[in-house]
Amino acid sequence: MRASSPKEKEWYTSFISGLFFPFHERIKNHDSVAVRKELEISQWWDPKCLEALQLSKLRRLLAHAEVHVPFYRALFSDISFNPKGVSSLTDLAYLPLLDKSRIRANTEALKSENGQSLARFNTGGSSGEPLIFYIGKERVSHDVAAKWRATRWWNVDIGDREIVVWGSPIELGAQDGIRGLRDWLLRTKLLPAFEMSEQKLDRFLDEIRAVRPKMLFGYPSALSHIARHANARGQRMDDLGLRVAFVTSERLYDEQRRQISETFGCPVANGYGGRDAGFIAHECPEGGMHITAEDIIVEIVDQQGMLLPCGEAGEIVVTHLATKDFPFIRYRTGDIGVLDSKLCACGRGLPLLKEIQGRSTDFLIAQDGTVIHGLALIYILRDVIGISNFKIIQESLNLTRISVVLESKLAPETIAKIEQGFKARLGQTVNIVIEEMAEIPPEKSGKFRYVVSKVATV
Ligand SMILES: [Zn+2]
Repeated sequence: MRASSPKEKEWYTSFISGLFFPFHERIKNHDSVAVRKELEISQWWDPKCLEALQLSKLRRLLAHAEVHVPFYRALFSDISFNPKGVSSLTDLAYLPLLDKSRIRANTEALKSENGQSLARFNTGGSSGEPLIFYIGKERVSHDVAAKWRATRWWNVDIGDREIVVWGSPIELGAQDGIRGLRDWLLRTKLLPAFEMSEQKLDRFLDEIRAVRPKMLFGYPSALSHIARHANARGQRMDDLGLRVAFVTSERLYDEQRRQISETFGCPVANGYGGRDAGFIAHECPEGGMHITAEDIIVEIVDQQGMLLPCGEAGEIVVTHLATKDFPFIRYRTGDIGVLDSKLCACGRGLPLLKEIQGRSTDFLIAQDGTVIHGLALIYILRDVIGISNFKIIQESLNLTRISVVLESKLAPETIAKIEQGFKARLGQTVNIVIEEMAEIPPEKSGKFRYVVSKVATV
């Protein structure tokens, strides 16, 4: 596609977001256009009104689950839970948490008996076994609408040129002809994130320059990797008119945010969610990580599953209110987060997630049982000149391996310093093995993880 004049671009974007995409959604029997319009109004409601909306939707979901979903019918009967008696969001705490193993064991019983055209999904399983679950059209519409709303917070819209750096081989395999045509019309171009050799990275830079996208979308590790490559090549990328870089699916480190923002000359907007849990939260230009409260109730729980007060860190548990066809009620995400009691300066009433500290698997366990955040070890390696990329793998309480990609050889005293730093946190008798590698491949999903612990599992 050739570059076009600004006027032409605006016209095209209005056509796509106002006509083509709504038509596309209607053919697929999705309500995403209507839902998005509602969301654009309710985002300004005060928190009390949003809570009342959540409660009425929750009651509807639970009542439906009792009548139509065998798993919940049996559960409610076992624990004598009456959905009609729910009078507050905190009543959710009467229900058990839903984890992946419970979904696996009850996949069929979790389907609504009157659910129609359920689509089967399979998470990539980058952090454990894959999960198979089902999504109905109601939920698809709501997740599309929530993402669309957040896109518009950043002054970009469906139809604006976009480069997506993404993909597990499985997802990319699904790129058929129709999807290709749709992506072409929506001006979305996909660059596969799971193979990023030097030559591929050069091509990525060329593609981004040729397309001149309004927005980038991808894993923080992938976008910062491309940004670093542009810097190493001396290739300017901040003159393309990019408005925003959307990142999601991994923890976003400050260093990555700085790198992406500086290289591409645009702000970085962090998103949090997944195919399984839904579009949980997204950052606005004022920096608030807004929860999609109209569709998702977020609870923070401790290791025993007990509800924690606002401000305390614990596991993020979500109830997705648009999942009557295959309910996600109190679903454990495995991520650690903190709820904020303050509201955002932008004026939206949507509550905020203060911190998302990443997957619980970003944590390691020291020999004495202390839980250590992966960052504590990441900082040790970030400071070292000569290391261009790394990955920390805790094999056991007594063995941690560090794979490094080197720009220059490490001095013996540098190696000793790294070992000391690691031992100070993990335990003095831990065996630290440093291995040089030509490159560190991302996970099968295309995501990159700096820390993998085979000890700290949830
Ligand atoms: Zn905000």
